[in-house]
Amino acid sequence: MTVAIIVHGGAKTISKGKEQPNKDGCLAAVQAGWEILQRGGDAIDAVEAAIRVLESDQTFNAGFGSTLNSEGEVEVDAAIMESTNFGWGSVAAVQGVRHPISVARKVMEDKPRLLVARSGERFALEHGLELCAKEDLVSEEQKQEWEEEAEVVDRPNTVGCVALDVNGRLVAGTSTGGVTDQNQGRVGDTALVGCGLYADGRGACSTTGDGESIIPVVLAKTAVDFLSGNAASMDGIVACHPEEAAEKAIEVLKQRVPGEAGCILLDRDGQIGWAYNSQDMAVAYMSDDLQQPAVFIRKEQDLAIA
Ligand code: ASP
Repeated sequence: MTVAIIVHGGAKTISKGKEQPNKDGCLAAVQAGWEILQRGGDAIDAVEAAIRVLESDQTFNAGFGSTLNSEGEVEVDAAIMESTNFGWGSVAAVQGVRHPISVARKVMEDKPRLLVARSGERFALEHGLELCAKEDLVSEEQKQEWEEEAEVVDRPNTVGCVALDVNGRLVAGTSTGGVTDQNQGRVGDTALVGCGLYADGRGACSTTGDGESIIPVVLAKTAVDFLSGNAASMDGIVACHPEEAAEKAIEVLKQRVPGEAGCILLDRDGQIGWAYNSQDMAVAYMSDDLQQPAVFIRKEQDLAIA
């Protein structure tokens, strides 16, 4: 059985000075997940481990260093979904949690549901997950930009991961601080199954970009549907390579709504695909077929072996 993992660091414009941190962060995340998969571990553990790395890195808009809302606060969303039991868990508009992806995972294991704001924070507390002062998640760079109301050149962006393990379990996870200066309590696509992430017997997908555009085209589910060419055949024969399915999903978005988005996709055979209509999207992946992880800032660039 093939095992594979792919991570993204958000659909965005990456300035020259930020290229290396984006690459380094995605590479570290893919390595953390790969280490688990290659010794026969579960894709849920791999996705959680990879996203925790990205949530700790202020280059990315998730956990510490997230973009700030209208009140100057870090307020985050995260979700995880797996194909074996069709399990899922989400949190949205939560504050003071160090690793939102771990809270989403715990919710999935407890009882699939979406917990928002104080109910998500209370759940994290009750389950012994790592909490912190909400100010501890504010990075200097984000604070400065918010205070100066500076034009955000290097908007950090959402992170995500998709993995396939040795038992054939496909898992998708996504974590975000939302969009810069968003209203307190605004929730985008990330916490919504089908929009910010999706996983079933055909494949799994994590998305990034303008939530208000991703939601109406149900981007993650749309991408997985393209794998089989048929939304109804959940375990149908894979008809389309993930590369093509990802491109088609972004094409649907482009035709129907304004805005930028990206998606990463794995099919049940561990084949990899990704697409975006933003200027850049940091991506790293690793599978049995590769000697080393591949890392990209944009797609046209030659394959960069780490
Ligand atoms: N999709 C996220 C949201 O709308 C933001 C992003 O991916 O940049 O909350």
